[in-house]
Amino acid sequence: MMKIAVLGTGMVGQALAGRLHELGHDVTVGTRDVAASLARMGQTPMGAPEFGSWYADHSEVAVATMPDAVADAELVVLATAGVASHAALELAGAASLSGTTILDISNPLDFSNGMPPSLAIVNTDSLGEHLQHAFPDAHVVKALNTVNANVMVHPAQLAGGDHTIFMAGNDEGAKQQVRELLESFGWRDILDLGDISAARGTEMYLPLWLRLFGTLQTPAFSIKVVR
Ligand code: NAP
Repeated sequence: MMKIAVLGTGMVGQALAGRLHELGHDVTVGTRDVAASLARMGQTPMGAPEFGSWYADHSEVAVATMPDAVADAELVVLATAGVASHAALELAGAASLSGTTILDISNPLDFSNGMPPSLAIVNTDSLGEHLQHAFPDAHVVKALNTVNANVMVHPAQLAGGDHTIFMAGNDEGAKQQVRELLESFGWRDILDLGDISAARGTEMYLPLWLRLFGTLQTPAFSIKVVR
């Protein structure tokens, strides 16, 4: 069992923190302002619980500032708004992240021009690569960013779990750590696409994900790679 920091208080942070705690890990959620986050009650416009309401039912999980959360974490889950992921890691502190695996779930979605969002980093770069370059001593592994928060942690709800999740990263040991974590969630078809530059492809899947969401009228879907 590991000491895990989950940076992010949104639906992804909640889903990962809850599931990791359930699996026996020592989980701390990292946020910018603990009191302000705990004071957010009710529901988001997307119908997910605000962090304070979620925490009322999950108070066994610790909550701390981002630097305190990562200080002695063995693994960091990055579940922040993609355009803020760099700032969040900066705030957490590069020194604490040295040698640490970062499971990067964030997507570089830019909502500043309304819906649908565009990708803030794209084509010849990706958010995963950008973060790896900015924090060279950390081991960034991009994964889980292609499915909805609930599917991430309960893959067996679709097709008996027989669908594909992608993984990309430069460090084999870090990818093995992430693979084991994903398997503990129930993932069986984990497709390693190679180094972190493969995050370009999985992040650029987002426009298709959004379109599928609109067409299928549910976020509970996934894809299966066959050959
Ligand atoms: P979100 O609303 O995208 O992000 C919320 C988190 O971002 C909060 O913890 C917030 O910190 C942090 N944040 C925002 N601005 C910040 C800043 N300037 N500096 C530091 N941190 C900042 O939450 P989400 O919907 O759970 O998504 C999290 C990530 O997962 C996103 O990148 C999203 O694209 C990706 N993703 C989401 C889904 C999904 O099902 N929602 C699926 C796949 C991938 P505070 O706690 O301090 O407020």
